[in-house]
Amino acid sequence: MADVRMGVVGCAGRMGTNLLRQIAGTEGAAIGGGTERPGHDAVGGDLGALAGLGDLGLTVGDDPRALSAEVDVVLDFTVAAAAAEHAALAAAAGTGLIAGTTGLEPDQEAAILAAAGKTAIVRAANMSVGVNLLLAITRQVAGLLDADFDIEVLEMHHRHKVDAPSGTALALGQAAADGRGVAHDDAADRGRDGITGARRRGDIGYAVLRGGNVAGEHSVIFAADNERVELTHRATDRAIFARGGVRAALWLHGRPPGLYSMADVLGF
Ligand code: NAD
Repeated sequence: MADVRMGVVGCAGRMGTNLLRQIAGTEGAAIGGGTERPGHDAVGGDLGALAGLGDLGLTVGDDPRALSAEVDVVLDFTVAAAAAEHAALAAAAGTGLIAGTTGLEPDQEAAILAAAGKTAIVRAANMSVGVNLLLAITRQVAGLLDADFDIEVLEMHHRHKVDAPSGTALALGQAAADGRGVAHDDAADRGRDGITGARRRGDIGYAVLRGGNVAGEHSVIFAADNERVELTHRATDRAIFARGGVRAALWLHGRPPGLYSMADVLGF
């Protein structure tokens, strides 16, 4: 079978370069091209040079429409505004999409959902195997423990991250809410500062740390009187997200239109 041709939008970014290396090292996958935002220094240069792969003879472009038409699957780990545009282009071209960008506004999320009516999309705030296991376990534990156990989601990321709480933290909170059978947005307490009053029973609280080059740490804490259960995942290298993204792209190729999750990809 021919290799699945993968296009990386945002190819000069931290995730973009990891994805290029991962695609290059994955059997059945081939680098089909890459784009950056217009005006980025990398545009016009060689794609391989960005990721330490040597010259590939492929030029970094700035036209995601052309890229969508050339490849089988587009991998998007960019910024929220661009993610919505990339989804519309993938839908128009009938190209598969791995939608990894986080921090999307509701209208941008809606754009991804609309695109999934026309093409196959895997959407996940976190593509690592371990975090997807943590999501499944969190849902289960939240279903087993009642509201005597306060749920807190704690996350830490590198100093460059622009959105908070992380998409993964919010997905963990959503999993906890689902497990408990409550509406996430009613229970979520996303920021505490000053005289906040006592904690509301049943709330799902969030706490955010930023610093250094931390690839991503997430804990879900179930705290009752005199006992605490803590579930934690620590990512030490963002290569785990690229590995999951490329695995999802291989899985996605040839699927009918729809919105798929990493749980679908991994069979959880
Ligand atoms: P980054 O800033 O290093 O990279 C983003 C890249 O996108 C930059 O190179 C930027 O120039 C480029 N870009 C911006 N606008 C563009 C456009 N219109 N067209 C093409 N490229 C454009 O950020 P990062 O650390 O690589 O993270 C990117 C996104 O991926 C973030 O939203 C992050 O939260 C998310 N992320 C998701 C996962 C996951 O598993 N789903 C894992 C890690 C990061």
